[in-house]
Amino acid sequence: MKPTNLFFTSFSLLLCVVIHGKVFANAAATDSHSFANVQDVRTTNLSLDLTVDFTRKQLSGYAEHQLQWLNPKATRFIVDTRALVVEKVQGLAADGQWSDIKYVLGIADPIKGQPLTMQLTPKVSTVRIFYHTTDGTTGLQWLSAMQTTEKKQPFLFSQSQAIHARSWIPLQDTPAVRLTYQAHIRTPKDLLAVMSADNSKNTERDGDYQFSMPQKVPAYLIALAVGDLHFKEMSEQTGIYAEKAWLDKAVYEFADTQKMIDVASKLYGEYHWGRYDLLILPSSFPFGGMENPRLSFITPTVITGDRSLVSLIAHELAHSWSGNLITNSSWNDLWINEGFTNFVENRLMREVYGDARADMEANLSYHELLRDMHGLSPLDTALRVDLTGRDPDDAFSLVPYVKGQLFLSWLEFKFGQARFDEFMAGYFGKHQFQSMDTKVFLQFLTEQLINKYPGVVTAQQIEQWVDKPGIPADAVVSQSDAFVKVEAQLKLWLTQEQPLRRLNTTKWTVHEWLHFINQLPRELSFAQLSELDEVYMFSSSLNAEIFVAWARLTIPQNYPPIFTPLRKFLLEVGRTKFVVPLYKELKANPEKSGWASAIYRDARAGYHPLTQSQIDKFLF
Ligand SMILES: [Zn+2]
Repeated sequence: MKPTNLFFTSFSLLLCVVIHGKVFANAAATDSHSFANVQDVRTTNLSLDLTVDFTRKQLSGYAEHQLQWLNPKATRFIVDTRALVVEKVQGLAADGQWSDIKYVLGIADPIKGQPLTMQLTPKVSTVRIFYHTTDGTTGLQWLSAMQTTEKKQPFLFSQSQAIHARSWIPLQDTPAVRLTYQAHIRTPKDLLAVMSADNSKNTERDGDYQFSMPQKVPAYLIALAVGDLHFKEMSEQTGIYAEKAWLDKAVYEFADTQKMIDVASKLYGEYHWGRYDLLILPSSFPFGGMENPRLSFITPTVITGDRSLVSLIAHELAHSWSGNLITNSSWNDLWINEGFTNFVENRLMREVYGDARADMEANLSYHELLRDMHGLSPLDTALRVDLTGRDPDDAFSLVPYVKGQLFLSWLEFKFGQARFDEFMAGYFGKHQFQSMDTKVFLQFLTEQLINKYPGVVTAQQIEQWVDKPGIPADAVVSQSDAFVKVEAQLKLWLTQEQPLRRLNTTKWTVHEWLHFINQLPRELSFAQLSELDEVYMFSSSLNAEIFVAWARLTIPQNYPPIFTPLRKFLLEVGRTKFVVPLYKELKANPEKSGWASAIYRDARAGYHPLTQSQIDKFLF
């Protein structure tokens, strides 16, 4: 994912020297992860016209920006790019004439990529940037047919968050700016393209597709996928796009999606995006899901046949309010997206599936957070962080997600659920289609709850949650009765009062099994591990969560039966949440470090560039 500065045109080399310094000066005033001069000019609408070439692994065409000038004296329009080849830029003047615009690609910054500076004035209302992507593109993954589930057709998908949209579209890549977009996408004839926009379920499969996104979204929510995709409806409003092999399984697994939408709309106000469809990606997709509006992108590793991991759908759907409707204005405030979303996710799970399940899921997340925080510097355990000079992908620890959720749960506990529900609905209603930072949120919180109900919480307590490291001592952690019973059963075995086969596990769900594995002592004898495996068959579990929890327990203990299925798993699955900790466990085990490197050499090409860059950091 290293950007490169090989892509200067000869013309741009000349100009670069002259204006480069000013380009950087402009960027600092706004989002530190964007070069865009959004204080002067903003894109209000983007039209993409792109051809998808699987042979060259390249998108090519143009991005047309409709501009709103805020500064009448401005002389430049600066957008973000990474590893793009810009071919030419044209501007449309008021007299209806297109003409060539002078431009320069600045020096590549290892995190932010290259500013594309175009010399133009407010006389120009529309700009077309002609370009193509390169091997250095970090926001696209091109899969060969063999890397897909059906193994018949290639597959392409984008992942724009946090700042990867700029690697496949030259644009103002900051969550502080929202735009509408349209796209004309050409693909090989027998493939289907889908986007985070209106996807007509009856589109003719002819390699020529039109999209329109009429609601304003930030750049990181622009998304594209192309493959041998088929559609099946779940309800009038929801459906699945997937390769055929996943279609029926996904329709069964995610059948409750409509119920979740209904509950969320009742609690937090109207669902603003029309349809809500799910796209099932090949297993190399680096995340659990990505909340691309109207069309969440979903990993197939949550399709287990028992609907046990559908909290992921509740999470991506929740983003239709927190994140997509109200968006963090910079990546320093990621908790505004993810903490709210984790909170809403758990609330939806509680309403649809009951308290017992929601409590188990919240408790598991809390313990995952504690584990995650071990590896973080104290500064990175505050909710509001300063990522200047750092890659915003570094902000995606569990802190903004789970500590953010704990903060909101604490407020809910303090003010009571009825008042807090009303507060949340008011928050989503008042700030819809806007960017939000921590400061503005805290003002709203102060007006709507803290001042209205004095004496409930103090400013110091809020500061402790938002700006101080760690988790405040009075955090409200969900306790699970079911987990207490799991621990009692485990104790019977560890104290040799009962053999494993006599433990009462018949009605356990995946959550109880995960708690059971997580509670096992980190050092067990080979005989004990073998007994666990013989009775519960963890090493051959098809549930990725259970398999990975078991592998993380057994890798440090050099438990031989785990390594054959582990090799298969690492070669097939690219979800960062699973593969990064597994490689870390392997790397920490001197007997397996070389073995891990050998597998990674084979597996790496199948992983997404984001996953590759994370593993490259410690394995090579
Ligand atoms: Zn999320």
